[in-house]
Amino acid sequence: MLPFPGAPGGFGSCDHPSAVAAITNPDPNDNEKGDGMKVPAWNPAIEFMEREALERQQLASLRKTLEWALETSFYRRRLTEVGLTHPEDLASLRDLRNLPFTTKEDLRAAYPDGLLAVDREQVVRLHTSSGTTGMPTVIYHTQGDIDRWTELVARCIVATGATARDVFQNMTGYGLFTGGLGLHYGAERVGMLVIPASSGNTGRQLQLMKHFQTTVLHATPSYLLHLHSALAEEDVAREQLGLRKAFIGAEPHSEQTRHKIETLFGIKAYNSYGLSEMNGPGVAFECEHQAGLHLWEDAFILEVIDPQTGQTLPEEETGEIVMTTLQRRATPLLRYRTRDLSRLVGGHCPCGRTHRRVARILGRSDDMLIVNGVNVFPSQIEGALMKMPEVGTNYLIQLEKRGALDRLVVKAEIRAHLFAGDRETLSALRGRISERLRSAILVKPVVELREPGSLPVSEGKAQRVVDLRPAF
Ligand code: AMP
Ligand code: ZN
Repeated sequence: MLPFPGAPGGFGSCDHPSAVAAITNPDPNDNEKGDGMKVPAWNPAIEFMEREALERQQLASLRKTLEWALETSFYRRRLTEVGLTHPEDLASLRDLRNLPFTTKEDLRAAYPDGLLAVDREQVVRLHTSSGTTGMPTVIYHTQGDIDRWTELVARCIVATGATARDVFQNMTGYGLFTGGLGLHYGAERVGMLVIPASSGNTGRQLQLMKHFQTTVLHATPSYLLHLHSALAEEDVAREQLGLRKAFIGAEPHSEQTRHKIETLFGIKAYNSYGLSEMNGPGVAFECEHQAGLHLWEDAFILEVIDPQTGQTLPEEETGEIVMTTLQRRATPLLRYRTRDLSRLVGGHCPCGRTHRRVARILGRSDDMLIVNGVNVFPSQIEGALMKMPEVGTNYLIQLEKRGALDRLVVKAEIRAHLFAGDRETLSALRGRISERLRSAILVKPVVELREPGSLPVSEGKAQRVVDLRPAF
């Protein structure tokens, strides 16, 4: 039997205002929780909303989203196939599980405008994904979509404790990539002084940081590590800078890398997760407690599924993140399979926000390397490397074929002074790194020690893996 019999379930009109929520602009520093503790928040009414009310709002917004989705031929066909022809056919949030997934392949097949749910005149912008795994995907936005996205980013920024008094240097690419413009608009909305530096040109970045006493940075974690090496080379002491926070995201990174960034710069670094299919940055962000990333559930419905079976997993089990947009007019997406692997964090965050948290992203399901039959995630290698004080800030993973066997080579930059040591010391270090990696990933790699600055640096997302194995 079809999960949706096609009969309207008796729910009234679908024009729930939450789906097109007005942008509120409360005083972010004047939010008193019940216990008298002040928690800076951009939109306290939403961020601390009771779960029951939040879920009621989600259901209304989901029905609105279905109405919008049914305006595209793609979803009309997909939804009719499971018997859903009216938004009211969806009786509860749980029913979402009966809807089909949307995949990256679907988005590519619909390229360029098969998923556009409004007239072209209503669209004010498009963004595409970075296309790291093939053809890019395109997402359109109405002015309302941009405003709501901006609101989400503003919430994230304020949740980290950043304020209008901060000077914000945005070191991610402006353009089709969503990281630059997404954070830019949110930071302006908060009232920060924004320096739209964009990515690359490290010398200029340093100058800007010094001249304007930048207090908050936004960059990929790999670029921040590179920036630190440049600071050291230019003899700029961190005391000459006014830095206090960084927002890091766009690529998987370990807790050890965050720790390294925080220690090197003497700042706090907050994990920022987003993907262009869900606008870009502003999907989930760490608050001041750095205890998982709050995902804005008035804007997205989050599910964690078993990537093999497609079944929803119990809380705290790791699986693939699946997301549904709740507020996007131009390109609504239902049950989008992100391929990103993570889990829901149980319990309550000390900040009091009611929106659930996802744990740090482990990687993408398609990032997983299979080395002689053993599953290895690049982030596990990174975590083990970054724990070792001798290891510098950059590394590269290379896979080769030797006869029938895979060979895993890890090239790691180590601290400059270590090269002054004798051969035995270096060889012992190589052995130690190899042993640490073996216990982390259960595969013993060949380790190559490299001088600082000798491995390629990327201005956008770091390319950490080179797979030289023949395809078959
Ligand atoms: P794009 O759509 O090109 O911006 O790429 C989005 C992808 O970048 C996500 O699906 C993740 O795989 C990755 N990504 C973004 N933010 C993070 C983060 N904080 N941690 C790990 N991976 C991330
Ligand atoms: Zn929190």
